Amino acid sequence: TIRTRPASRFQDKYNQPLITVWWWRLQQILASQLPPENIHLNYRCLGFEQNEHCVSIHFDCQEPITADLLIGADGINSVIREVLIGDGKPRYLGSMSWRTVIKCHQELLKAGELGFVKGDQEFMYLLNVGDGYISWLYRRLSPDFTLSQNAAEVKSRVLEHIADWGKPLRDLVEATAAEQILEGPICDRVPLKSWSQGRVTLLGDAAHPMAPALGQGANSTFEDAYELAWCFSQASNIQEALSNYEARRIPRTTIIQNRSALGEMRYYSQEQEADSQKMEEQSQMSSEEYTDWAFNYQPLEFRI
Ligand SMILES: Cc1cc2nc3c(=O)[nH]c(=O)nc-3n(C[C@H](O)[C@H](O)[C@H](O)COP(=O)(O)OP(=O)(O)OC[C@H]3O[C@@H](n4cnc5c(N)ncnc54)[C@H](O)[C@@H]3O)c2cc1C
Repeated sequence: TIRTRPASRFQDKYNQPLITVWWWRLQQILASQLPPENIHLNYRCLGFEQNEHCVSIHFDCQEPITADLLIGADGINSVIREVLIGDGKPRYLGSMSWRTVIKCHQELLKAGELGFVKGDQEFMYLLNVGDGYISWLYRRLSPDFTLSQNAAEVKSRVLEHIADWGKPLRDLVEATAAEQILEGPICDRVPLKSWSQGRVTLLGDAAHPMAPALGQGANSTFEDAYELAWCFSQASNIQEALSNYEARRIPRTTIIQNRSALGEMRYYSQEQEADSQKMEEQSQMSSEEYTDWAFNYQPLEFRI
């Protein structure tokens, strides 16, 4: 099955555009808004310790830094979370992912379209990320999450899996340099009831990593950042700000994490309709109610 959907449907329904942007490019845009001296590269955090006055943050091959506040935004394998919560490795959700962004001339997608190609327990997303770049993301149900030994093996794994797919899709993978294909397991973590202690908190995937099924990981990360800044602007001390931040964010991100985990399995199911119904019953929201709830969110109108 090949399906494309116009991005304009979000504009029509929610008065907001669906923006498809390369993560790397977005990071460049965000970084360009900061004074360069505020960005310190090659600081791999190893851990922290805190007392009532400050937090000391330790890095690989760098001097420790003392700060008033530490926000762990270090992704799904967060070191800060490991020290703070100590809940071990992420949970493997049973499927592997291979993805890339490449510059290529293609006629599969018009500007602003997303492509979805579904096979048997496998699928591919195609995204036009602008300026002649296309992103492909191939996903496959797999009990085994062993990573390939090298880049060539990564590419040949994908080509082997899609050997009976149409030529334009195989050509797209063929045209991709093996080193540019990122292979990884799809994981999440069980939602937390609290993710701050003292003067340390978490944000984004470090706080609430979720299955990518609903495409809400980066969105909820931006919501976290916006609301954390707002909580600090309203609070008279760190504890008050972090406690309000958790109260605003945890109920919402818990729903999104749980719903994303259910949505993940539905991707591969042969009984999508029955599974959709199960998902709606478990989360007590129809798909339409859920998307309205997710996309109509106005952070500053939300009262705790
Ligand atoms: C296959 C796939 C598809 C996805 N599709 C979508 C989508 O369509 N829409 C969407 O909204 N989200 C999507 N997501 C989720 C999205 O990528 C994440 O939710 C988002 O990147 C989270 O941002 P973050 O800043 O919290 O973490 P990350 O983007 O993981 O950034 C963490 C940063 O911390 C750094 N770091 C890690 N460890 C350390 C350390 N010890 N010391 C210092 N720095 C460290 C890393 O280098 C990285 O720069 C997808 C995820 C996957 C896996």
